[in-house]
Amino acid sequence: MEQQPVAIVTGASRGIGRAIACKLTTCGYSVVVNFLSRAERAAAVVAEIEDAGGQAIAVQGDVGSAEDRDQLMAACQQRFGRLDLLVNNAGIAPPERVDLLSATEASWEKVFTTNLKGPFFLSQLAANGMIRQIKEGVIPAAKIINISSISAYAGSRDRADYCMAKAGLAMMTQLLAARLAEVSVQVFEICPGIIRTDMTEIVTEKYDALIANGLMPIQRWGEASDVAEAVKALVEDRFPFSTGQRFHVDGGYHLRRL
Ligand code: NAP
Repeated sequence: MEQQPVAIVTGASRGIGRAIACKLTTCGYSVVVNFLSRAERAAAVVAEIEDAGGQAIAVQGDVGSAEDRDQLMAACQQRFGRLDLLVNNAGIAPPERVDLLSATEASWEKVFTTNLKGPFFLSQLAANGMIRQIKEGVIPAAKIINISSISAYAGSRDRADYCMAKAGLAMMTQLLAARLAEVSVQVFEICPGIIRTDMTEIVTEKYDALIANGLMPIQRWGEASDVAEAVKALVEDRFPFSTGQRFHVDGGYHLRRL
């Protein structure tokens, strides 16, 4: 069994998940790098971690699939024998941006399956395993961190399914936090703003203009590393009497201003 703490980071082959996975290794975590289809990108993350002296494995799996979630947990157990942290990061933008009056059930199902159903049932699986391991004295405590979005509270009428799924993820954080506190599992939500990744590449010009016009008090794009730093702060146990919090990583976007 692994002596150091172990994390599963979903969607860690690129973007925010990749930054979180790499950052966690600097905090002493061994990492399960989950990905959907880009095996080479995931292998590159594992190589980067190993080159830096850390331990990682890449595990393919669709978080929306029950079978894949089981395999992800089994791969973690088989390689490391423990799980201290789950980061529910994997997420997709809607396949197409269309006004909510024309939104399709197909898009809804894809977005909700990946962005809400997957994280909920993976958390359920992880939490039951964490509870068992805490009882057996394998790990002292555990954490679940959910990567939501400013879209959880700021509506975009051409991405209704994405916004509603992220709002659901925020409630999921509160539900899990309240349920799992008694078993020493803390649950947090990190709420990123506009972060420069593949996901936002197609809207670069739009956001460049909005940022230049003062959309956020801190006038720059967020970077994946900004989100990873917030995860680091949480896993370093600086918030021992907290659970269920939403941490904004958004350049102050959430602040109401006149
Ligand atoms: P990204 O660059 O598009 O990367 C998405 C990652 O998720 C990839 O590793 C991808 O794997 C993986 N993935 C996609 N569907 C999956 C599935 N069904 N099962 C497992 N893995 C899956 O996205 P990102 O910008 O880093 O976003 C990461 C998270 O932050 C998402 O939840 C997103 O909603 C949230 N977020 C992003 C922003 C932003 O501005 N970028 C803002 C707020 C919140 P492959 O590489 O194999 O495809």
